[in-house]
Amino acid sequence: MAASSLLRSLTGRGCAGPTAFSRYYRHLQYPFSTAAAAGAQGEAGWGFPGLGPTAKGEKARVVVLGTGWAGSRLMKDLDTGGYDVVCVAPRNHMVFTPLLASTCVGTLEFRSVAEPLARIQPAVSKSPGSHFFLARCTGVDPDAHTIDCETVTDGQKDALEPWKFKVAYDKLVFACGAEASTFGIHGVADNAVFLREVHHAQEIRRRLLLNLMLSEVPGMPALLICIMHAVPSAESSRTVRGLGKGFSGRPYPRLCNAGRPRLEPGTCWLQAANEILSSFDVRLRQYAAKQLVKSGVRLVRGIVKDVQPNKLILDDGEEVPYGVLVWSTGVGASSFVKSLPFPKSPGGRIGVDEWLRVPSVQDVYAIGDCSGFLESTGKEVLPALAQVAERQGKYLAQLLNRVMKAGGGHATSAAEVDVGPPFVYKHLGSMATVGRYKALVDLRQSKVR
Ligand SMILES: Cc1cc2nc3c(=O)[nH]c(=O)nc-3n(C[C@H](O)[C@H](O)[C@H](O)COP(=O)(O)OP(=O)(O)OC[C@H]3O[C@@H](n4cnc5c(N)ncnc54)[C@H](O)[C@@H]3O)c2cc1C
Repeated sequence: MAASSLLRSLTGRGCAGPTAFSRYYRHLQYPFSTAAAAGAQGEAGWGFPGLGPTAKGEKARVVVLGTGWAGSRLMKDLDTGGYDVVCVAPRNHMVFTPLLASTCVGTLEFRSVAEPLARIQPAVSKSPGSHFFLARCTGVDPDAHTIDCETVTDGQKDALEPWKFKVAYDKLVFACGAEASTFGIHGVADNAVFLREVHHAQEIRRRLLLNLMLSEVPGMPALLICIMHAVPSAESSRTVRGLGKGFSGRPYPRLCNAGRPRLEPGTCWLQAANEILSSFDVRLRQYAAKQLVKSGVRLVRGIVKDVQPNKLILDDGEEVPYGVLVWSTGVGASSFVKSLPFPKSPGGRIGVDEWLRVPSVQDVYAIGDCSGFLESTGKEVLPALAQVAERQGKYLAQLLNRVMKAGGGHATSAAEVDVGPPFVYKHLGSMATVGRYKALVDLRQSKVR
Protein backbone atom coordinates (compact mmCIF):
# COMPACT_ATOMS: atom_id res chain seq x y z
CA MET A 1 0.00 0.00 0.00
CA ALA A 2 1.36 3.44 -0.83
CA ALA A 3 2.78 5.32 2.14
CA SER A 4 0.51 8.32 1.67
CA SER A 5 -2.66 6.24 1.54
CA LEU A 6 -1.66 4.37 4.70
CA LEU A 7 -1.18 7.68 6.49
CA ARG A 8 -4.43 9.06 5.11
CA SER A 9 -6.31 5.98 6.31
CA LEU A 10 -5.17 6.77 9.85
CA THR A 11 -5.40 10.50 9.98
CA GLY A 12 -7.80 11.37 7.18
CA ARG A 13 -5.11 13.58 5.64
CA GLY A 14 -1.57 13.51 4.29
CA CYS A 15 1.69 14.19 6.18
CA ALA A 16 1.25 16.01 9.46
CA GLY A 17 2.03 19.67 9.82
CA PRO A 18 3.09 21.49 13.00
CA THR A 19 1.10 20.38 15.99
CA ALA A 20 0.36 22.00 19.32
CA PHE A 21 0.69 18.94 21.54
CA SER A 22 -0.22 20.93 24.64
CA ARG A 23 -3.63 21.78 23.19
CA TYR A 24 -4.54 18.10 23.23
CA TYR A 25 -3.14 17.18 26.60
CA ARG A 26 -4.11 20.20 28.69
CA HIS A 27 -6.78 18.20 30.56
CA LEU A 28 -4.29 15.68 31.93
CA GLN A 29 -2.99 16.14 35.43
CA TYR A 30 -0.42 13.67 36.60
CA PRO A 31 -0.83 11.55 38.62
CA PHE A 32 -4.51 10.95 38.04
CA SER A 33 -7.05 13.33 39.35
CA THR A 34 -10.26 11.96 37.87
CA ALA A 35 -13.10 11.13 40.19
CA ALA A 36 -13.18 7.59 38.84
CA ALA A 37 -9.53 7.07 39.70
CA ALA A 38 -9.87 8.45 43.20
CA GLY A 39 -12.98 6.41 43.90
CA ALA A 40 -11.56 3.24 42.47
CA GLN A 41 -8.42 3.47 44.54
CA GLY A 42 -10.19 3.24 47.85
CA GLU A 43 -12.81 0.78 46.64
CA ALA A 44 -10.45 -1.73 45.11
CA GLY A 45 -7.86 -1.50 47.89
CA TRP A 46 -5.03 -2.24 45.49
CA GLY A 47 -2.36 -0.33 47.40
CA PHE A 48 -1.76 1.60 44.15
CA PRO A 49 -3.74 4.36 42.54
CA GLY A 50 -5.57 3.51 39.34
CA LEU A 51 -8.75 3.23 37.35
CA GLY A 52 -11.19 0.80 38.94
CA PRO A 53 -13.71 -1.45 37.19
CA THR A 54 -16.57 0.17 35.30
CA ALA A 55 -20.06 -0.12 36.72
CA LYS A 56 -23.18 -1.33 34.89
CA GLY A 57 -24.81 1.62 33.16
CA GLU A 58 -21.38 3.24 32.53
CA LYS A 59 -19.60 2.92 29.21
CA ALA A 60 -17.44 -0.18 28.91
CA ARG A 61 -13.66 0.50 28.88
CA VAL A 62 -11.30 -0.67 26.15
CA VAL A 63 -7.67 -0.50 27.27
CA VAL A 64 -5.20 -0.35 24.39
CA LEU A 65 -1.47 -0.93 24.92
CA GLY A 66 0.47 0.95 22.24
CA THR A 67 0.18 3.88 19.85
CA GLY A 68 1.68 2.19 16.78
CA TRP A 69 0.06 1.24 13.48
CA ALA A 70 -2.23 -1.35 15.06
CA GLY A 71 -3.30 0.48 18.22
CA SER A 72 -3.81 3.84 16.51
CA ARG A 73 -6.00 2.39 13.78
CA LEU A 74 -8.03 0.48 16.35
CA MET A 75 -8.59 3.56 18.51
CA LYS A 76 -9.47 5.70 15.50
CA ASP A 77 -12.37 3.39 14.60
CA LEU A 78 -13.64 2.48 18.10
CA ASP A 79 -17.17 3.70 18.74
CA THR A 80 -16.68 6.13 21.62
CA GLY A 81 -20.45 6.45 21.97
CA GLY A 82 -20.36 3.03 23.63
CA TYR A 83 -16.76 2.68 24.82
CA ASP A 84 -14.33 4.71 26.87
CA VAL A 85 -10.82 4.38 25.45
CA VAL A 86 -7.81 4.22 27.74
CA CYS A 87 -4.45 4.02 26.02
CA VAL A 88 -1.26 3.16 27.89
CA ALA A 89 1.97 3.62 25.94
CA PRO A 90 5.49 4.98 26.39
CA ARG A 91 4.90 7.50 23.59
CA ASN A 92 1.90 9.80 22.95
CA HIS A 93 2.07 9.68 19.16
CA MET A 94 1.96 7.28 16.26
CA VAL A 95 5.14 7.06 14.14
CA PHE A 96 4.77 6.77 10.38
CA THR A 97 7.69 4.32 10.12
CA PRO A 98 7.97 4.02 6.30
CA LEU A 99 9.14 7.64 6.16
CA LEU A 100 11.31 7.58 9.29
CA ALA A 101 14.53 7.00 7.30
CA SER A 102 13.94 10.24 5.39
CA THR A 103 13.97 12.25 8.63
CA CYS A 104 17.49 11.03 9.48
CA VAL A 105 18.87 13.17 6.67
CA GLY A 106 16.45 16.09 6.68
CA THR A 107 14.43 15.12 3.59
CA LEU A 108 11.44 15.22 5.94
CA GLU A 109 11.06 16.95 9.28
CA PHE A 110 10.52 14.82 12.37
CA ARG A 111 7.06 16.32 12.98
CA SER A 112 5.98 15.10 9.55
CA VAL A 113 6.16 11.45 10.63
CA ALA A 114 4.61 11.76 14.12
CA GLU A 115 0.88 12.07 14.65
CA PRO A 116 -0.45 12.80 18.18
CA LEU A 117 -2.85 10.17 19.46
CA ALA A 118 -5.29 12.89 20.50
CA ARG A 119 -5.64 13.84 16.85
CA ILE A 120 -6.25 10.23 15.82
CA GLN A 121 -8.78 9.62 18.62
CA PRO A 122 -9.94 12.95 20.12
CA ALA A 123 -11.87 11.19 22.93
CA VAL A 124 -8.61 10.61 24.86
CA SER A 125 -8.32 14.35 25.41
CA LYS A 126 -12.01 15.29 25.60
CA SER A 127 -14.14 12.50 27.01
CA PRO A 128 -14.08 12.29 30.86
CA GLY A 129 -13.72 8.49 30.91
CA SER A 130 -11.07 8.23 28.19
CA HIS A 131 -7.38 8.81 28.83
CA PHE A 132 -3.89 8.52 27.50
CA PHE A 133 -1.31 7.51 30.10
CA LEU A 134 2.40 7.91 29.34
CA ALA A 135 3.45 4.63 30.86
CA ARG A 136 4.30 1.06 29.97
CA CYS A 137 2.32 -1.97 30.94
CA THR A 138 4.38 -4.34 33.07
CA GLY A 139 1.92 -7.14 33.76
CA VAL A 140 -1.61 -8.43 33.40
CA ASP A 141 -4.03 -10.27 35.67
CA PRO A 142 -6.60 -11.77 33.27
CA ASP A 143 -8.76 -13.14 36.12
CA ALA A 144 -9.07 -9.76 37.85
CA HIS A 145 -9.27 -7.94 34.47
CA THR A 146 -6.50 -5.51 35.47
CA ILE A 147 -3.11 -4.45 34.15
CA ASP A 148 -0.09 -3.14 36.05
CA CYS A 149 1.61 -0.05 34.66
CA GLU A 150 4.49 2.24 35.49
CA THR A 151 5.23 5.71 34.21
CA VAL A 152 8.00 6.28 31.70
CA THR A 153 10.72 8.72 32.63
CA ASP A 154 13.49 7.32 30.41
CA GLY A 155 16.25 9.65 29.44
CA GLN A 156 15.36 12.37 31.93
CA LYS A 157 18.08 13.72 34.15
CA ASP A 158 17.31 13.08 37.82
CA ALA A 159 14.27 11.09 36.65
CA LEU A 160 11.56 10.39 39.17
CA GLU A 161 11.05 6.85 40.33
CA PRO A 162 8.50 5.15 38.04
CA TRP A 163 4.98 5.68 39.39
CA LYS A 164 3.05 2.42 39.62
CA PHE A 165 -0.68 2.15 39.00
CA LYS A 166 -3.36 -0.28 37.85
CA VAL A 167 -6.06 -0.03 35.25
CA ALA A 168 -9.13 -2.27 35.16
CA TYR A 169 -10.40 -3.21 31.69
CA ASP A 170 -13.52 -4.57 30.08
CA LYS A 171 -11.58 -5.33 26.89
CA LEU A 172 -7.77 -5.36 26.70
CA VAL A 173 -5.86 -5.06 23.42
CA PHE A 174 -2.14 -5.73 23.18
CA ALA A 175 -0.77 -3.60 20.34
CA CYS A 176 2.71 -3.16 21.80
CA GLY A 177 4.81 -4.03 18.74
CA ALA A 178 8.16 -5.80 18.57
CA GLU A 179 11.77 -4.97 19.46
CA ALA A 180 14.84 -4.58 17.28
CA SER A 181 16.83 -7.83 17.24
CA THR A 182 20.49 -7.74 18.23
CA PHE A 183 20.82 -11.55 17.74
CA GLY A 184 22.74 -11.52 21.01
CA ILE A 185 25.75 -9.93 19.30
CA HIS A 186 28.07 -8.31 21.80
CA GLY A 187 28.30 -4.50 21.69
CA VAL A 188 25.28 -3.80 19.48
CA ALA A 189 23.08 -2.27 22.19
CA ASP A 190 25.92 -0.07 23.48
CA ASN A 191 27.33 1.21 20.18
CA ALA A 192 24.68 1.10 17.45
CA VAL A 193 21.62 3.29 16.92
CA PHE A 194 18.34 1.53 16.11
CA LEU A 195 15.77 3.04 13.78
CA ARG A 196 12.29 2.60 15.24
CA GLU A 197 11.37 5.86 16.99
CA VAL A 198 11.64 9.56 16.20
CA HIS A 199 14.34 9.99 18.87
CA HIS A 200 16.41 7.31 17.07
CA ALA A 201 16.18 9.30 13.83
CA GLN A 202 17.18 12.45 15.72
CA GLU A 203 20.21 10.69 17.16
CA ILE A 204 21.24 9.32 13.74
CA ARG A 205 20.95 12.80 12.22
CA ARG A 206 23.02 14.30 15.04
CA ARG A 207 25.77 11.70 14.64
CA LEU A 208 25.79 11.97 10.84
CA LEU A 209 26.20 15.74 10.92
CA LEU A 210 28.87 15.50 13.60
CA ASN A 211 30.84 13.00 11.52
CA LEU A 212 30.44 15.01 8.32
CA MET A 213 31.72 18.16 10.03
CA LEU A 214 34.61 16.29 11.64
CA SER A 215 35.60 14.88 8.25
CA GLU A 216 36.63 18.44 7.28
CA VAL A 217 39.15 18.71 10.13
CA PRO A 218 42.74 18.18 8.88
CA GLY A 219 44.06 14.77 9.80
CA MET A 220 40.76 13.36 11.10
CA PRO A 221 40.05 9.78 9.97
CA ALA A 222 37.40 9.83 7.26
CA LEU A 223 33.73 9.13 7.85
CA LEU A 224 32.33 5.71 7.32
CA ILE A 225 28.66 5.02 7.87
CA CYS A 226 27.57 1.44 8.39
CA ILE A 227 23.95 0.52 7.90
CA MET A 228 22.88 -2.99 8.70
CA HIS A 229 20.67 -4.86 6.32
CA ALA A 230 16.89 -4.45 6.13
CA VAL A 231 14.34 -2.68 3.93
CA PRO A 232 14.57 0.66 5.75
CA SER A 233 18.37 0.37 5.44
CA ALA A 234 18.17 0.32 1.67
CA GLU A 235 16.19 3.53 1.84
CA SER A 236 18.43 5.23 4.39
CA SER A 237 21.73 4.21 2.81
CA ARG A 238 20.76 5.91 -0.43
CA THR A 239 19.61 9.05 1.35
CA VAL A 240 22.77 9.12 3.42
CA ARG A 241 24.75 9.27 0.21
CA GLY A 242 22.68 12.28 -0.74
CA LEU A 243 23.55 13.86 2.57
CA GLY A 244 27.26 13.31 1.91
CA LYS A 245 26.86 15.34 -1.28
CA GLY A 246 26.19 18.43 0.72
CA PHE A 247 23.83 19.02 3.62
CA SER A 248 24.65 22.72 3.70
CA GLY A 249 24.34 23.30 -0.01
CA ARG A 250 27.88 22.32 -1.00
CA PRO A 251 29.64 18.98 -1.18
CA TYR A 252 31.85 17.85 1.65
CA PRO A 253 35.19 17.93 -0.16
CA ARG A 254 36.72 14.97 1.60
CA LEU A 255 33.74 12.80 0.77
CA CYS A 256 33.44 13.87 -2.82
CA ASN A 257 35.56 13.82 -5.90
CA ALA A 258 34.88 16.47 -8.55
CA GLY A 259 31.33 16.93 -7.27
CA ARG A 260 30.55 13.20 -7.36
CA PRO A 261 30.62 11.18 -4.14
CA ARG A 262 33.57 8.80 -4.01
CA LEU A 263 32.98 5.17 -3.25
CA GLU A 264 35.22 5.40 -0.19
CA PRO A 265 34.96 6.78 2.33
CA GLY A 266 31.22 6.74 2.13
CA THR A 267 28.37 4.55 3.12
CA CYS A 268 29.22 0.97 3.93
CA TRP A 269 26.25 -1.37 4.02
CA LEU A 270 26.89 -4.75 5.53
CA GLN A 271 24.57 -7.69 5.08
CA ALA A 272 24.12 -10.06 7.95
CA ALA A 273 22.55 -12.70 5.68
CA ASN A 274 22.85 -13.22 1.94
CA GLU A 275 20.49 -10.94 0.12
CA ILE A 276 19.37 -7.33 0.38
CA LEU A 277 15.61 -6.75 0.33
CA SER A 278 15.20 -10.50 0.54
CA SER A 279 11.37 -10.47 0.45
CA PHE A 280 11.43 -8.94 -3.06
CA ASP A 281 11.61 -10.75 -6.39
CA VAL A 282 15.17 -11.67 -7.43
CA ARG A 283 15.21 -9.26 -10.41
CA LEU A 284 14.10 -6.38 -8.19
CA ARG A 285 16.82 -7.27 -5.69
CA GLN A 286 19.45 -7.21 -8.42
CA TYR A 287 18.15 -3.88 -9.71
CA ALA A 288 18.24 -2.41 -6.18
CA ALA A 289 21.80 -3.60 -5.58
CA LYS A 290 22.91 -2.09 -8.91
CA GLN A 291 21.27 1.24 -8.14
CA LEU A 292 22.75 1.43 -4.67
CA VAL A 293 26.28 0.66 -5.87
CA LYS A 294 25.87 3.17 -8.69
CA SER A 295 24.92 5.86 -6.21
CA GLY A 296 28.02 5.24 -4.11
CA VAL A 297 26.78 2.78 -1.48
CA ARG A 298 29.28 0.01 -0.82
CA LEU A 299 27.66 -3.38 -0.32
CA VAL A 300 29.57 -5.84 1.82
CA ARG A 301 28.51 -9.38 2.61
CA GLY A 302 29.43 -10.72 6.01
CA ILE A 303 28.19 -11.77 9.39
CA VAL A 304 28.94 -9.49 12.31
CA LYS A 305 30.56 -11.21 15.29
CA ASP A 306 31.31 -8.28 17.56
CA VAL A 307 30.66 -4.55 17.69
CA GLN A 308 33.24 -2.30 19.29
CA PRO A 309 33.00 1.48 19.83
CA ASN A 310 34.55 2.38 16.44
CA LYS A 311 34.67 -0.87 14.48
CA LEU A 312 32.80 -4.04 13.58
CA ILE A 313 34.45 -7.45 13.64
CA LEU A 314 33.16 -9.87 11.00
CA ASP A 315 33.15 -13.65 11.35
CA ASP A 316 36.09 -13.98 8.92
CA GLY A 317 38.13 -11.65 11.15
CA GLU A 318 37.84 -8.57 8.92
CA GLU A 319 37.56 -5.29 10.82
CA VAL A 320 35.27 -2.55 9.50
CA PRO A 321 35.74 0.89 11.08
CA TYR A 322 32.69 3.15 11.34
CA GLY A 323 31.67 6.65 12.33
CA VAL A 324 27.95 5.96 12.67
CA LEU A 325 26.43 2.51 13.01
CA VAL A 326 22.71 2.10 12.28
CA TRP A 327 21.35 -1.31 13.29
CA SER A 328 18.24 -2.19 11.36
CA THR A 329 18.27 -5.94 10.95
CA GLY A 330 14.85 -7.19 11.90
CA VAL A 331 12.56 -7.54 14.88
CA GLY A 332 11.62 -10.09 17.50
CA ALA A 333 9.24 -10.44 20.45
CA SER A 334 9.90 -7.90 23.21
CA SER A 335 10.87 -8.97 26.71
CA PHE A 336 7.44 -7.72 27.88
CA VAL A 337 5.65 -9.98 25.38
CA LYS A 338 7.88 -12.92 26.34
CA SER A 339 6.95 -12.38 30.01
CA LEU A 340 3.18 -12.57 29.43
CA PRO A 341 1.39 -15.67 30.74
CA PHE A 342 -0.24 -16.56 27.39
CA PRO A 343 0.44 -19.32 24.85
CA LYS A 344 2.76 -18.02 22.11
CA SER A 345 2.72 -18.35 18.33
CA PRO A 346 5.79 -19.65 16.46
CA GLY A 347 8.39 -16.89 16.88
CA GLY A 348 7.32 -16.07 20.46
CA ARG A 349 4.55 -13.57 19.74
CA ILE A 350 1.24 -13.50 21.69
CA GLY A 351 -0.82 -16.37 20.23
CA VAL A 352 -4.22 -15.43 18.79
CA ASP A 353 -7.08 -17.24 17.07
CA GLU A 354 -8.68 -16.23 13.74
CA TRP A 355 -10.63 -13.44 15.48
CA LEU A 356 -7.41 -12.00 17.02
CA ARG A 357 -8.52 -13.12 20.49
CA VAL A 358 -6.15 -14.58 23.07
CA PRO A 359 -8.18 -17.76 23.43
CA SER A 360 -6.94 -18.90 26.83
CA VAL A 361 -8.54 -15.89 28.60
CA GLN A 362 -11.65 -13.71 28.26
CA ASP A 363 -11.75 -10.19 26.76
CA VAL A 364 -8.09 -10.07 25.67
CA TYR A 365 -6.95 -9.45 22.06
CA ALA A 366 -3.57 -8.93 20.38
CA ILE A 367 -2.81 -7.19 17.06
CA GLY A 368 0.17 -6.05 15.01
CA ASP A 369 3.82 -7.07 15.42
CA CYS A 370 3.29 -8.42 18.96
CA SER A 371 0.77 -11.06 17.83
CA GLY A 372 0.79 -14.16 15.66
CA PHE A 373 -1.66 -16.93 14.82
CA LEU A 374 -1.43 -19.93 17.13
CA GLU A 375 -0.22 -23.12 15.45
CA SER A 376 -3.64 -24.68 16.13
CA THR A 377 -5.29 -22.22 13.68
CA GLY A 378 -3.29 -23.75 10.80
CA LYS A 379 -2.44 -20.21 9.63
CA GLU A 380 1.05 -18.83 9.14
CA VAL A 381 2.34 -15.99 11.31
CA LEU A 382 1.88 -12.77 9.31
CA PRO A 383 4.88 -10.58 8.50
CA ALA A 384 5.78 -7.65 10.78
CA LEU A 385 4.38 -4.99 8.46
CA ALA A 386 2.40 -1.79 8.83
CA GLN A 387 -0.21 -3.03 6.38
CA VAL A 388 -0.87 -6.10 8.56
CA ALA A 389 -1.00 -4.06 11.79
CA GLU A 390 -3.22 -1.38 10.32
CA ARG A 391 -5.75 -3.83 8.91
CA GLN A 392 -5.83 -5.86 12.11
CA GLY A 393 -6.57 -2.63 14.03
CA LYS A 394 -9.39 -1.79 11.65
CA TYR A 395 -10.84 -5.31 11.84
CA LEU A 396 -10.71 -5.46 15.64
CA ALA A 397 -12.44 -2.07 16.01
CA GLN A 398 -15.33 -3.40 13.91
CA LEU A 399 -15.45 -6.59 15.98
CA LEU A 400 -15.45 -4.72 19.31
CA ASN A 401 -18.08 -2.24 18.11
CA ARG A 402 -20.28 -5.17 17.03
CA VAL A 403 -19.81 -6.87 20.41
CA MET A 404 -20.68 -3.66 22.28
CA LYS A 405 -23.86 -3.13 20.22
CA ALA A 406 -24.91 -6.71 20.94
CA GLY A 407 -24.62 -6.02 24.69
CA GLY A 408 -21.24 -7.69 25.26
CA GLY A 409 -19.12 -4.59 25.91
CA HIS A 410 -18.50 -5.11 29.63
CA ALA A 411 -16.11 -7.64 31.13
CA THR A 412 -17.12 -11.32 30.86
CA SER A 413 -20.38 -10.48 29.06
CA ALA A 414 -19.44 -11.39 25.49
CA ALA A 415 -19.44 -15.20 25.66
CA GLU A 416 -22.71 -15.59 23.74
CA VAL A 417 -22.18 -12.73 21.29
CA ASP A 418 -21.66 -13.40 17.56
CA VAL A 419 -18.27 -11.83 16.75
CA GLY A 420 -18.70 -12.02 12.97
CA PRO A 421 -16.30 -13.31 10.31
CA PRO A 422 -12.63 -14.14 11.11
CA PHE A 423 -9.73 -11.88 10.12
CA VAL A 424 -8.39 -12.53 6.61
CA TYR A 425 -5.20 -10.90 5.36
CA LYS A 426 -4.63 -10.10 1.70
CA HIS A 427 -1.12 -8.84 0.94
CA LEU A 428 -1.25 -5.83 -1.36
CA GLY A 429 2.46 -5.84 -2.28
CA SER A 430 5.62 -4.11 -1.11
CA MET A 431 7.51 -0.98 -2.04
CA ALA A 432 11.00 0.29 -1.22
CA THR A 433 12.70 3.43 -2.46
CA VAL A 434 16.30 3.12 -3.66
CA GLY A 435 17.12 6.69 -4.55
CA ARG A 436 15.60 9.82 -5.98
CA TYR A 437 12.54 9.00 -8.09
CA LYS A 438 13.44 5.28 -8.03
CA ALA A 439 11.56 2.59 -6.15
CA LEU A 440 10.85 -1.13 -6.22
CA VAL A 441 7.25 -2.30 -6.26
CA ASP A 442 6.58 -6.00 -5.80
CA LEU A 443 2.95 -7.01 -6.40
CA ARG A 444 3.54 -10.77 -6.52
CA GLN A 445 2.18 -11.79 -3.14
CA SER A 446 -1.42 -10.66 -3.59
CA LYS A 447 -2.85 -13.75 -1.98
CA VAL A 448 -5.28 -14.36 0.83
CA ARG A 449 -3.78 -15.63 4.13
C1 LIG B 1 12.18 2.30 9.96
C2 LIG B 1 11.03 1.37 9.66
C3 LIG B 1 10.45 1.37 8.38
C4 LIG B 1 9.38 0.54 8.10
N1 LIG B 1 8.84 0.56 6.85
C5 LIG B 1 7.74 -0.18 6.60
C6 LIG B 1 7.12 -0.13 5.33
O1 LIG B 1 7.57 0.60 4.43
N2 LIG B 1 6.01 -0.89 5.11
C7 LIG B 1 5.49 -1.70 6.08
O2 LIG B 1 4.48 -2.35 5.83
N3 LIG B 1 6.08 -1.80 7.28
C8 LIG B 1 7.19 -1.07 7.58
N4 LIG B 1 7.77 -1.15 8.81
C9 LIG B 1 7.20 -2.07 9.82
C10 LIG B 1 6.03 -1.41 10.55
O3 LIG B 1 6.42 -0.15 11.04
C11 LIG B 1 5.59 -2.28 11.72
O4 LIG B 1 5.17 -3.52 11.21
C12 LIG B 1 4.43 -1.61 12.46
O5 LIG B 1 4.90 -0.44 13.10
C13 LIG B 1 3.83 -2.54 13.50
O6 LIG B 1 2.80 -1.84 14.15
P1 LIG B 1 2.46 -2.16 15.68
O7 LIG B 1 1.34 -1.25 16.04
O8 LIG B 1 2.29 -3.61 15.86
O9 LIG B 1 3.78 -1.77 16.50
P2 LIG B 1 4.52 -0.38 16.62
O10 LIG B 1 4.16 0.51 15.50
O11 LIG B 1 5.95 -0.72 16.85
O12 LIG B 1 3.92 0.25 17.96
C14 LIG B 1 4.09 -0.36 19.20
C15 LIG B 1 3.54 0.56 20.28
O13 LIG B 1 3.53 -0.13 21.54
C16 LIG B 1 4.13 0.68 22.53
N5 LIG B 1 4.65 -0.20 23.57
C17 LIG B 1 5.77 -0.94 23.57
N6 LIG B 1 5.89 -1.62 24.73
C18 LIG B 1 4.80 -1.29 25.47
C19 LIG B 1 4.34 -1.66 26.79
N7 LIG B 1 5.03 -2.51 27.57
N8 LIG B 1 3.18 -1.13 27.24
C20 LIG B 1 2.45 -0.26 26.46
N9 LIG B 1 2.84 0.12 25.22
C21 LIG B 1 4.00 -0.40 24.74
C22 LIG B 1 5.17 1.49 21.74
O14 LIG B 1 5.57 2.65 22.42
C23 LIG B 1 4.36 1.83 20.49
O15 LIG B 1 3.51 2.92 20.76
C24 LIG B 1 8.87 -0.35 9.11
C25 LIG B 1 9.45 -0.36 10.39
C26 LIG B 1 10.52 0.50 10.66
C27 LIG B 1 11.12 0.48 12.05
